[in-house]
Amino acid sequence: AAKQAGKNRYALFDAAAEQHTRGQLKQVDDIRLALARNEFVLFYQPKVNLMTYDCVGVEALIRWQHPTKGLLAPAAFLPAIEHHELGITLGQWVITEAFRQYELWQQLGFNMAISVNIAANHLQQSDFAMQLQEICRQFPNVPPSMLELEILETSALQDITGVLNTMEACAAMGVTFSLDDFGTGYSSLFYLKRLPISTLKLDQSFVRDILTDADDLAILQGVSRLADAFALSTIAEGVETTEHINKLLEIGYLYGQGYGIARPMPAAQFAVWFSTLSQRFIKG
Ligand code: C2E
Ligand code: MG
Ligand code: MG
Ligand code: MG
Repeated sequence: AAKQAGKNRYALFDAAAEQHTRGQLKQVDDIRLALARNEFVLFYQPKVNLMTYDCVGVEALIRWQHPTKGLLAPAAFLPAIEHHELGITLGQWVITEAFRQYELWQQLGFNMAISVNIAANHLQQSDFAMQLQEICRQFPNVPPSMLELEILETSALQDITGVLNTMEACAAMGVTFSLDDFGTGYSSLFYLKRLPISTLKLDQSFVRDILTDADDLAILQGVSRLADAFALSTIAEGVETTEHINKLLEIGYLYGQGYGIARPMPAAQFAVWFSTLSQRFIKG
């Protein structure tokens, strides 16, 4: 009877798994269609100097302007294509869109460095550097050095030598790299040593309770010294309050990003935010 029950359970699991797979296949199709219909959009979140509030760049964050479900965050659709070639197609769209946006901003007189999140399996494509070169060719007026790639899930990097070659080829074009969500389970000191990384992005989970949690404070202080030792820049994510800003400055973090400074916003709104901010500076 136990065996029978086991068998049934297996059958049940199987049916659920199949339904799950079907659901995912449908989502993959929907995403492919959405790409063709141009329903994806990049929002931009400022990265600022916490002392002067100067905007030093923006992070591009993908959104899906869904015709019926409204604006969808990446967590609602990226997981479905994580291991699918469509994830790479969408990743290329994001980079291309960032170049297009830079070119437009350049015409308005901004030279805003753009950071793009890049999935490990996209970076691991053997022709990644060539793909990037192809995009650069489409935008001869855009300096590739405006592009920073934020690497996610370094734990998923398999062929370190291959990735190293790719990153060095990109770095030779002027592209820089940061380790995203640094300090979480998905990053490792090993990569710091081996890969041409310029910046550590401290995960927001360490910043949130920095005023009350001595462990988080210790981690941030330790990472700051580690960054100094490796001659890396740092930036703190999840800066939500003035208290966060003051504490971060006190322990040696000059750059930050978070809702307390500005939320991710559409390009047009960013242009308004940026102009208002610089005007405030000019007035002192
Ligand atoms: P991430 O790269 O670590 O981006 C930071 C996330 O934190 C963003 O969520 C941002 O909206 C949110 N955030 C910013 N400031 C604050 C704050 O002060 N407090 C809190 N609680 N959250 C804040 P979002 O846009 O939903 O993106 C989530 C993740 O999806 C990103 O995390 C990144 O890993 C991934 N992602 C976003 N866009 C892309 C993309 O174009 N390609 C790929 N491969 N991944 C992307
Ligand atoms: Mg990021
Ligand atoms: Mg992050
Ligand atoms: Mg994150």
